[in-house]
Amino acid sequence: MKKAIVWFRNDLRLHDNEVLFEALSWADEILPIYIFDPRQFANHELGFPKTGHHRLQFIQESVQDLRLNLQDLGADLIVRTGHPEDVLFSLARYHEAFSIFCQEESCSEERAVEDKLVANMDTIEGEVNFYWGFSLLHYEDLPFKLTAVPEQFTIFRKKVEKDFRIRPTFPSPEKLTVIPGVDSGEIPAGDELIRHSEEPVTPETKLEKVKGGETHGIIRVKNYIWETGRIAQYKETRNGLLGTDYSSRFSAWLAHGCLSPRQIYYEVKKYEQEVESNPSTYWLIFELLWRDYFRFMSLKHEDEIFKAGGIRKSGIGGYQDAMSFHRWAEGNTGIPFIDAAMRELLATGYTSNRARQNVASFFVKDMKMDWRIGAAWFESQLVDYDPASNYLNWNYIAGIGNDPREGRYFNVLSQAKRYDPTGAFVKHWIPELRKLPSSRIHTPFHLNEVEQEYLTIRLGQEYPRPCINLKDWRALKKKSHY
Ligand code: FAD
Repeated sequence: MKKAIVWFRNDLRLHDNEVLFEALSWADEILPIYIFDPRQFANHELGFPKTGHHRLQFIQESVQDLRLNLQDLGADLIVRTGHPEDVLFSLARYHEAFSIFCQEESCSEERAVEDKLVANMDTIEGEVNFYWGFSLLHYEDLPFKLTAVPEQFTIFRKKVEKDFRIRPTFPSPEKLTVIPGVDSGEIPAGDELIRHSEEPVTPETKLEKVKGGETHGIIRVKNYIWETGRIAQYKETRNGLLGTDYSSRFSAWLAHGCLSPRQIYYEVKKYEQEVESNPSTYWLIFELLWRDYFRFMSLKHEDEIFKAGGIRKSGIGGYQDAMSFHRWAEGNTGIPFIDAAMRELLATGYTSNRARQNVASFFVKDMKMDWRIGAAWFESQLVDYDPASNYLNWNYIAGIGNDPREGRYFNVLSQAKRYDPTGAFVKHWIPELRKLPSSRIHTPFHLNEVEQEYLTIRLGQEYPRPCINLKDWRALKKKSHY
């Protein structure tokens, strides 16, 4: 009897899952398992959890959805809490299932777990079979070695687009035979894993959260591509800030593997054949290539992506001031565009790409803070956090990553006026500023005493004064690229 353990990691789906497909092809019985690793929920030194409650909730929903989908096939998902290298090793020994199948990861913490698991399994002559499944392109299909992935995205893209072949998807299983008699285990509650798990959401923000799981991911793909055809305007709308439909919102499902990038790719290709092919349909794939690119960069540069000098090893520093950090993280910098985005992130675990670029740039270039603290906060809060995309986007914004342009600077005031011209985004997330006319919404710090009195918005009371020196800011703005 051939037995296999299928360890679900960031591949929480049945469709296009090579790990599951290969395990089922080889084994007579499988043991599908998800493990909550307490190390992923520990506190950062600044006191917030590595995985905040938004992502935890998304993971819990995704695990529950996977469990239900497996139950529909006559199986179940075993759930445990512990160190995967130990939990899997014990299960392998107990059930004499000496083959483990799982997805290969690219960053150091995850790879350290893989190494320990392999070492444990070696002691019982077991084996761990790794499959690459996170990106659209397989790294074996790249026209260069991983050590030679170009440092500029455009060069990478042009080279891979020359002979663009995406591997076919794997079929979803129709039936599963599991190792019998294994206690399925409970999905742990939030407060068992992280200390502060109450959710600071208002009724209106609840609507803007995405729900975890393959089922909801697939519904979103159908809706975004087929039912509403919003994909056909993606390039024009993708810099939006308010609502849920200006961009695809696929990111959280992709990050946890509830959606496969290949499945999305083939859905877009079908839409192009059956409905229309335009710059927007191309641009969605283009963005998926950014995701791939950062994944491959993380394989190439390993731990450098987390270090102060980033992949350029250029050693930039920055303040590590807790009070400034809290003003930024809680949306109290006194710059409405930044505060709106940070409050959205805090309330929902998501903010748009445009907003992310601005708040990150403001943190590094205007507040002159250590980028790693900002990145760690994003890691905690983002529902779509993935180490490569997060840290390499921060590297990029901090000027120590893959940006070919030196000294890029986002002028957050002109960005605010351009992307939030009516102030609707600011008014949505900062109710105390709703009384301000659109012409003043982004610059409450310019209101004089009489205007503040008239509008009943006193700076330093209802809304904070700016946390940066505006005189320095004007000097910086002269260097702006946006
Ligand atoms: P869409 O605009 O619809 O794009 C489609 C998909 O392409 C996304 O779902 C995502 O998978 C991918 N994508 C788009 N832009 C990028 C990008 N710049 N880098 C990598 N992939 C991209 N994205 C994450 O998935 N996880 C992160 O941890 C993350 N951290 C970020 C940190 C910073 C400082 C910045 C500036 C960006 C970060 N992004 C991250 C990228 C981007 O902001 C999000 O992928 C995007 O906002 C998700 O919304 P969407 O799914 O609607 O994206």
